[in-house]
Amino acid sequence: MTPESFDSALASPNVRHMRLSDRRRKGELRLFSPAVLHSEICALLMMGLLTLIGCTKPQKPIDGRKRVVTTFTILQDIARNVAGDRVIVESITKPGAEIHEYEPTPRDIVKAQSADLVLRNGFGLERWFEKFMTRLGQVRSVTLSDGIEPIQIAAGRGDGTPNPHSWMSPKNALVYVENVQKALCDLDPENADYYRANATAYSAKLREISEKLEREFERIPPEQRWLVTSEGAFSYLARDFGLRELFLWPANADAEATPLQIRKVVDEVRAHRVPVGFSESTISPKPMQEVAKETGIRYGGVLYVDSLTASGGEASTYLEMLDINASRILSGFGLE
Ligand SMILES: [Zn+2]
Repeated sequence: MTPESFDSALASPNVRHMRLSDRRRKGELRLFSPAVLHSEICALLMMGLLTLIGCTKPQKPIDGRKRVVTTFTILQDIARNVAGDRVIVESITKPGAEIHEYEPTPRDIVKAQSADLVLRNGFGLERWFEKFMTRLGQVRSVTLSDGIEPIQIAAGRGDGTPNPHSWMSPKNALVYVENVQKALCDLDPENADYYRANATAYSAKLREISEKLEREFERIPPEQRWLVTSEGAFSYLARDFGLRELFLWPANADAEATPLQIRKVVDEVRAHRVPVGFSESTISPKPMQEVAKETGIRYGGVLYVDSLTASGGEASTYLEMLDINASRILSGFGLE
């Protein structure tokens, strides 16, 4: 590990501190709660781990395959569909992880430094990663949202900046696939035909699910087509399928579940007679359950947006994620 990356790794406890402060402010943690103590102990252990990792050279795969690292699991799954078995594709963040304010570990930095290519989303999603990218030396990186027209966030901390959740549109995912394919062909030209064939086959599946979702969302009566969620992460999906959005907070990096945010959604839900609200898998369901309780609407359960489930879970691939989200939304509207 280089001295620069050592510095970077040491910077991560500051990020942790900010997040814990936020959580303390929201009353989720007491100052000396077991969670806080656990976290501080983890920080100390991390320092030890850092020293150990510093002595270890990143390993290249013995079979000679290239290694690609993505910032989160959805990009990993999309990239794997193009890479097949000819490239190793790993994700920095694990299934189920919160990705907006992730704290990279020393091991993450080593993983990225030893990769042949890093694939990231862009649109400001990986601010936590960008400060490390400048220190990753010669590692090539490709932004998969390149070529997509962003939808701007219109509130909160990210006001006026691109909404990063562009992968939620299966039509946009076709652009991600194209960008992955080009990146892999550049990285490993010998297997270019293989990557192109995989990209074509996977793109056909994306078009198929996009058409399926279109048919499904059309079953919701037009005046009821509101998607009520905790995070404003569904703008691209909503645009593709003619849904209007209501959400408690614009992005998970913002203040979450303030009384004002809850009040506004409660009022809007009543005004538009929306029957159901959802929360996302990486955050607490409580704020949306509170909205449901106060308005008498149904709490429709968990939707996936920022992270897949582990393999064997109900949303372990991007296609499964789109599918389960759509069927859960339809169930919420009483349409099985
Ligand atoms: Zn998000």
